[in-house]
Amino acid sequence: MRLLSPSNLASDFSRHLRPAAHIAMLRREVLDSFLRSRAQSQGAHLLPALLTSLSLPSSPLHPYLLHYIPSGAGAGAGPATSTLAVDVVVGADGANSRVARCIGAGDYSTAIAFQERVRLPPAGMAAYADLAEMYVGDDVSPDFYAWVFPKCDHVAVGTGTAAAKPAIRRLQAAARARAAPKLAGGVVVRVEAHPIPEHPRPRRVAGRAALVGDAAGYVARCSGEGIYFAAKSGRMCGDAIVRIWKEKGRVAEADLKREYLRRWDEEFAGTFRFLDALQRVFYGSNAAREALVELCGDEYVQRMTFDSYLHKKMAAGRPLDDLGLLWKSAGSLLRATILGREVERLRSL
Ligand SMILES: Cc1cc2nc3c(=O)[nH]c(=O)nc-3n(C[C@H](O)[C@H](O)[C@H](O)COP(=O)(O)OP(=O)(O)OC[C@H]3O[C@@H](n4cnc5c(N)ncnc54)[C@H](O)[C@@H]3O)c2cc1C
Repeated sequence: MRLLSPSNLASDFSRHLRPAAHIAMLRREVLDSFLRSRAQSQGAHLLPALLTSLSLPSSPLHPYLLHYIPSGAGAGAGPATSTLAVDVVVGADGANSRVARCIGAGDYSTAIAFQERVRLPPAGMAAYADLAEMYVGDDVSPDFYAWVFPKCDHVAVGTGTAAAKPAIRRLQAAARARAAPKLAGGVVVRVEAHPIPEHPRPRRVAGRAALVGDAAGYVARCSGEGIYFAAKSGRMCGDAIVRIWKEKGRVAEADLKREYLRRWDEEFAGTFRFLDALQRVFYGSNAAREALVELCGDEYVQRMTFDSYLHKKMAAGRPLDDLGLLWKSAGSLLRATILGREVERLRSL
């Protein structure tokens, strides 16, 4: 995992991964269909369809009615809507969640992520066989980072921002330019853009309906990681429903809040707040980004980061080392700020 500063200073961030630990890169089109098939083989009934709306129950004893258009319907005579009655709804339908809208979960602010899938010549691909890059700088994103991530037989080149959504194509061009020598000869095979939630929705459980993943707003600031949290929240919510059902024979809002929401917040709310603070401090200016890259060369920073990242839990630090790190962070920030001002002064001469 290589982090590149605005001045292209590189820090190899994963030198101190523990033996056998690794940072996973994956292709969602492969993972998603694997998960779907596995659920089916475990007894889930798949119903390929587009959910169009949800009728809320008139009492705790009545079912939710899901209105949907089955996949493949609509050719010729117009879409044929079907209805399914269910006891409990788990909305895992992403950032534009229809379920969230129907249950009145409220809005959240979003960033936008833009990504191009690029097929590289064999030599270019070989360079990314075991390398993922993150670029920081005002040129590629005013508040996040740009990336080149390997995806087995191609790379994903992208950037994200909440602050400058209309400028996303300019930021993407800058990201491509930063990595240009390594992307030489590459052919864009797919372009993707999607909102990324910045914080949880005001309501994540309403009645017997719960939201998970992006629909709930579980994307970590700083890293933009949402796949793990989507899978984890889906499992936590599903486990909670089974537990409640076995115990009481029916599910109520208070049970879902206690067994799913409270457990989720206990486990992850602190981590999300910490990453939010880190993003504000280190992605706010080029000087802070230079300091971030310098700090990421430090062995203790790497160990703490990866111990926390791999186990999704803030690793417990050593007080003396933490104090040293605080001192080093302040020093790096100050040095990068002074250097940045000096560069600006020289430029203006
Ligand atoms: C460009 C980009 C790069 C990213 N890179 C990373 C990364 O490197 N690492 C990481 O951890 N995260 C990354 N993320 C974030 C991550 O993709 C999301 O957090 C994660 O996919 C959330 O999973 P989800 O299942 O909640 O939602 P989604 O993955 O959005 O899945 C929602 C599903 O619901 C379906 N759906 C939606 N509406 C309906 C409807 N009305 N009826 C029926 N089905 C519906 C959709 O078709 C989709 O299959 C990235 C996001 C983007 C946009």
